[in-house]
Amino acid sequence: MRLKITVTGIVQGVGFRPFIYRTAVLNKLNGYVRNRGDAGVEILLEGNQQNINIFLRDLKEKKPPLAQIHQIITSKLKEKEEYTAFTIQKSSSETEHSGSVIPPDIAICNDCLKELRDPNDPRFEYFFITCTNCGPRFTIIEKLPYDRENTTMRDFPLCRFCKKEYADPLNRRFHAQTVACPCCGPKAYLTTKKGELVTSEDPVREAGKLLSEGCILAIKGYGGFHVATSTIKDKPLTKLRQVKHRSQKPFAIMARSLQAIRTFAEVNPAEAELLASYSRPIMLLNKSHSYYLSELVAPRLHNVGVMLPYTGLHYMLFDKVDDAAFVMTSANPPNQPIINDNDEALKTLSDTVDYFLFHNRRIAHRCDDSVLRVHSKSQVFIRRSRGYAPAPIMLKQKAKRCVIALGGELNNTSCILNENKAFISQHIGDVENIETRNFLQNASDHLMHLTNSKPDIIACDLHPKFTTTKLAEDLAEENNWQLARVQHHYAHVAALMAEHDAKEIVGICCDGYGYGTSGEAWGGEILLCAEGTFGFERLAHLGKQPLVGGDLATRYPLRMATGILHGKVDVKDWLLANAQHFPYGEKEVEIVLRQLENNQNIVETTSCGRILDAIAAVLGICYERTYEGEPAMKLESIATRGKDKLRLKPIIKNNTLDTTQILVDIFENKGKCSQVDLAYAAHAYLAKGLAMLGVQKAQENDIATIGFTGGAACNELLASIMRKTVEAAGLQFLVHTAVPAGDGGLSFGQAVAIGFSKF
Ligand SMILES: [Zn+2]
Ligand SMILES: [Zn+2]
Repeated sequence: MRLKITVTGIVQGVGFRPFIYRTAVLNKLNGYVRNRGDAGVEILLEGNQQNINIFLRDLKEKKPPLAQIHQIITSKLKEKEEYTAFTIQKSSSETEHSGSVIPPDIAICNDCLKELRDPNDPRFEYFFITCTNCGPRFTIIEKLPYDRENTTMRDFPLCRFCKKEYADPLNRRFHAQTVACPCCGPKAYLTTKKGELVTSEDPVREAGKLLSEGCILAIKGYGGFHVATSTIKDKPLTKLRQVKHRSQKPFAIMARSLQAIRTFAEVNPAEAELLASYSRPIMLLNKSHSYYLSELVAPRLHNVGVMLPYTGLHYMLFDKVDDAAFVMTSANPPNQPIINDNDEALKTLSDTVDYFLFHNRRIAHRCDDSVLRVHSKSQVFIRRSRGYAPAPIMLKQKAKRCVIALGGELNNTSCILNENKAFISQHIGDVENIETRNFLQNASDHLMHLTNSKPDIIACDLHPKFTTTKLAEDLAEENNWQLARVQHHYAHVAALMAEHDAKEIVGICCDGYGYGTSGEAWGGEILLCAEGTFGFERLAHLGKQPLVGGDLATRYPLRMATGILHGKVDVKDWLLANAQHFPYGEKEVEIVLRQLENNQNIVETTSCGRILDAIAAVLGICYERTYEGEPAMKLESIATRGKDKLRLKPIIKNNTLDTTQILVDIFENKGKCSQVDLAYAAHAYLAKGLAMLGVQKAQENDIATIGFTGGAACNELLASIMRKTVEAAGLQFLVHTAVPAGDGGLSFGQAVAIGFSKF
């Protein structure tokens, strides 16, 4: 019998051909296996039918752990048998199928870690030790198929020893494209901040010592540069905050081990599992009572972003020091993508760092670390990037057409929807300038090539002035694609529906800002959405509140608070007492009050984020937003220690949840109640109020499911209180577990809104 088999999915870069080879030889089959240009694998088998059947069973049941099979296409061939053995053939560039993809970068596996520590192993202490089961993939590939010459590993020809292992079917590195050793692989080296070589026998461990002593280093990893330093010394942290112009934004840290993490943070079993998974994301963990790292790591937050080492290099940084963790934050200039090039790093980081730890392998594609947190037991994506992209989100149904979506403006990603698979790009960042726009375009192009997708429609946000909207318009014209504009909050709800295959849903969408259907500022919306229908019905929302001075009210939450409280309580004395928190002091207080009296320079918003900001300001928790979500995050951090002593009853009128009285109540109870309890009461009011409004609307429309989405859905307190209220009413409550609730999931939402409806 002669059979041709094509396998699609994640089957390149995961040890699939070696697995096929071994299975075929074991079953006495002849023929070949080869990679294809569409990221699939092609197999030709010759042998008896029974053996072929066993092969087909093993193909599904015994596949390598990192492989994902989407489809197995078989066809019987009539010609005579022609092979006398089974071989791995040179890859073909054929691209017939679409929807396969290469895997994300994979953290160092336990076998490689053992070899890294074994003095008798030829790769003892080799910082980039990898095998078929681990190492970079997405960040090194330039084109398909996934062969060494198509990756940045082509600059490192194999030595005799590595070549032998590469060719040995019984070796773990049989056909491993990233195989390398100290002789033939990438080299690490240390330089001064000016790029002058620092002679060292052991540059990686030397770098670890420098970190421990309080130096700041730029460290090149798989998908970009990190800026690293001590987590316990205030001096370098203060310097880092000054030069990076990041006075408050938390720094991610890398800890030497799970045990080390437990000395300063709480880790539950779900968090431990994610920390140690091959994706090795940054996990937001609650600081423990014995937290001893510098307050400058994650100022005034109850949690800290921690990851475990994911390369040999990372592990070795800790070898000669006692530090439990180092700061390891992505190196990117403000509003620019993560730095991925040695010269660029020297140019842009020499004022920031004392030393560079470089290696000489090029990075084909940048990729930031992923960030997750756990709500009770389930994972919540803050950022889905390294370790996850470009693996697809598998959907229950097939899209009507192939869609590319460019997302919104902040925390952006792009997405390709191809049949029942959604490929979300790595984290792009805030797309406001030419560098990030180019990054977005290149990442999207690359994703289309990797998945062999041919979209005929491009989706973007409704906002006419977003850089991504302009890019979508340009690309639509250039490629003759149809253009689709998708409202921001509708995209969030559509994302949640697609993730759960929900047919009809009342979606509660809370975030900072999204462009409403008539250009209004939305952000606390209750939408009715049904599968198959493009569009939504806006059933309810938060009360409208004034943004005094437009965007200034977003930056300075006291303006927001003033706008809400004005006319309800006498705020003037309070504002004058806090005048130092306005950039122009008392003069600005007068201006803000005058603008409110004359109704000048005021835009209205229904944003949930702005209400949380205002509460943070009234409670004296945060007066300036120096990073996205700062006031709300700090408010949540305070609230987690509080109780609902105030028990405020949500005020719902005309499909609107009132947000004025809650501010008045909090303002008036400031002296009587503790800050932690007031912060909790504010969360309880909003979460219960929105949930009650959602339940009311669901019952009116005979719908059994309520979903919570938007950036505010990452807030554990809001989500848990909302869940209680919704489930107490006997309704189902849905949240995101596969895509980010915030704007990192927007491109996915836009894509499914188009692809799953009759747009
Ligand atoms: Zn390995
Ligand atoms: Zn070698």
